Amino acid sequence: MTSIKYKVHALKRWILTQNPNIDAIDARYSGKVATVLMLVFGVATAFGITPTTSDRSVPLVPVIEDITQNVVVPTPTPGSYVQQDQVRSGDTLAALLFRLGVSDQPALDFISTDPKARVIYQRMAPGKPIRVERDANGSLLSLRFPDKENGTLVVARTSDGFNASVVQIGALHRVIQASGTVQSSFFAAADSAGIPDSVSHQMTQLFSTDLDFHNDLRAGDTFSVVYESAQNDFDQLVPGRILAAEFVNKGSVFRRVYYAGTEGGDYYTPDGHGSHSSFLRSPIEFSRVTSGFTAARFHPILKTWRAHKGIDLAAPSGTPIVSVANATVTFAGWRNGYGNMIELHHANGIDTVYGHLSAFANGLHSGEKIRQGDVIGFVGMTGWATGPHLHYEFKINGVQHDPLGPEVPRYASTDLTGHARGHFLTATAPLLQQLDAVRGTALARFE
Ligand SMILES: [Zn+2]
Repeated sequence: MTSIKYKVHALKRWILTQNPNIDAIDARYSGKVATVLMLVFGVATAFGITPTTSDRSVPLVPVIEDITQNVVVPTPTPGSYVQQDQVRSGDTLAALLFRLGVSDQPALDFISTDPKARVIYQRMAPGKPIRVERDANGSLLSLRFPDKENGTLVVARTSDGFNASVVQIGALHRVIQASGTVQSSFFAAADSAGIPDSVSHQMTQLFSTDLDFHNDLRAGDTFSVVYESAQNDFDQLVPGRILAAEFVNKGSVFRRVYYAGTEGGDYYTPDGHGSHSSFLRSPIEFSRVTSGFTAARFHPILKTWRAHKGIDLAAPSGTPIVSVANATVTFAGWRNGYGNMIELHHANGIDTVYGHLSAFANGLHSGEKIRQGDVIGFVGMTGWATGPHLHYEFKINGVQHDPLGPEVPRYASTDLTGHARGHFLTATAPLLQQLDAVRGTALARFE
């Protein structure tokens, strides 16, 4: 281990050449940025002395004056070379390692047989980074590959072979904000606002009690989001949890804010209403209502006037159906007319019914406890159905109500009150201010 001193802003400049998306590194994080970058920098130094075929050129700016940081850097073994590349389409591990100058059959043998190391083969998706340290003969000294979350799988040479382990890297956390305006679809707008897929998907879940992202959205709707992101061991930004989000739909403003002060942390409306265990607006992500809730309608198969005490949601066969709230499965099987049917029992005397399914989720059975958003089955046309759709019923104390009607509780019993609410309001105020600021930027940009 060696103690090396560098100037922070030079490092910022260096990372900008690596990743132009990082256009602002908050000064508060500079120390941590430097610490993380040191690891990369130590590595990058080796690029300068290594004859490499890598197409990733790394301009380096080592700075020795104007010392602001004093950090410890793991130094590569003397005489070793450290290189990073990423998995390309069609890559084999052997080809990838060869590109990095590694020619080491015993290492490949170890990776293909060791239970921990073997997962590299399963996770070799294009774009995944890999970093190796090797000696002048092409023997592998160590290999680093991303594991789940921000962990890193490390394969290292030992005195008698190799060893694989997973290490957790203290990732640098950043807070990122973004906003956009819907033109055609939410996902297209989120994409052009630079919001990662995992974050836009979180948004659709956060607002699923208020909005049906397929039916309710209009051109001109706006959204803003503040979310966490972490820098991993490979100098990549990994998006994390949403801290605050807003959706303005046809002039109505919906907001959610994350609060860590309750058990496990949860999302709330700005005034402290819980939103976690309330009911999803629809058990299918994208669908359209083809038959609404009515006291009486002409039934297309029975050819008689009958009440339709649920709604029909058209969707292709096989579309996943999710539980609209935490529940216990009370029925999963065949029921005349409904075909394959699921009934779920929720808190506060509420039951939901899902009919005409093509299939049930694997292993789903009566008595099983499931969580909101869990896939329970798939759209089909079993029973009395003229085409693939979901028949969905919402019962309160055994009586069917319109699932889209005002009787459906939007918020459950997790509302914050009294002291807890006071703490919540204080803790979340800065996040909501940040959301206001993002929204202001968005309005200025789109006016
Ligand atoms: Zn129906």
